[in-house]
Amino acid sequence: MKLKQALNDAQRRLAQAGVDTPEFDARALAAHLLDVPLSQLTMQQMRLLTGEEMAAYETLLVRRCRRQPLQYIVGSTEFYGYELICDPRALIPRADTEALVDLSLELIDELELTRLADIGTGTGAIALALALERPNLQVLATDTSGAALELAEDNVALHGLADRVALARGPWLEPLHDTRWAGTVEMIVSNPPYVRERDFPGLMAEIREHEPREALIDTAADGMGAHRTIVEQCRLLPALRAVALEVGEGQATEVAKLMRNALRAREVIIRKDLGSIDRAVAGVLGIGER
Ligand code: SAM
Ligand code: GLN
Repeated sequence: MKLKQALNDAQRRLAQAGVDTPEFDARALAAHLLDVPLSQLTMQQMRLLTGEEMAAYETLLVRRCRRQPLQYIVGSTEFYGYELICDPRALIPRADTEALVDLSLELIDELELTRLADIGTGTGAIALALALERPNLQVLATDTSGAALELAEDNVALHGLADRVALARGPWLEPLHDTRWAGTVEMIVSNPPYVRERDFPGLMAEIREHEPREALIDTAADGMGAHRTIVEQCRLLPALRAVALEVGEGQATEVAKLMRNALRAREVIIRKDLGSIDRAVAGVLGIGER
């Protein structure tokens, strides 16, 4: 069968399965299979697929029709322009989280920070993007999930950053105390779980059925239990200068208030994501004011 025909059939089946972007996904899976850049696929439309290639394409297609996320099937994704290994061990990094990275970089530069921790690192996306963007930064990346930390370790190795990105397991800021980072850490960055339990059934099948549940759901009624815990625990860090947290839709004002009240932040900044939703909230702390 010609590639063109295979792509058309695949697109139709993906659409029937309820996949959001059937044409793109049919092409992305074929590009992955044939190991060609997506941009070159069109030039190969008349290429004949071998029986073996057809069978392999079918396997990928069946997985995607079961609503496994594309990034898990192809095994990689891009975050902040950097390649990351991506599989069901951790949440797929979202483009919206790049707003948190932008804001964090601005504060790192403005306050000349060199030591920060990324709490709930998942694939390691935020920790690695920050470390890659700022070569003098030392980062501690934490998670409660051992599986996520294994994946993060693979990504640290992929980028050769083992000397600047350390990994530690445990809840919230506890690993900082275990590793003696607590006394020196200058900034806390986190994209914690913030989906409310009652909103979970409304998420896309890809997210609901295939991404780690503990990466998404916060059990507090307002979905901000993690934010409150992190901010509260930040009060115990003597060298802390800034905290930057991702928030869900409608949560920014409350988290900003938390930073003003519990941390006595002298400045609070709110940033929007690509869809113009308030997505990242940062507090800048005065020196010696706690
Ligand atoms: N930072 C990654 C990103 O932005 O793509 C992953 C963010 S995901 C929304 C939240 C992460 O927090 C998950 O990796 C999850 O395992 C982790 N997590 C959940 N509860 C935690 C806790 N109590 N302490 C530390 N990390 C936790
Ligand atoms: N924005 C994510 C979603 O797709 C949720 C990420 C999070 O809980 N931190 O639902």
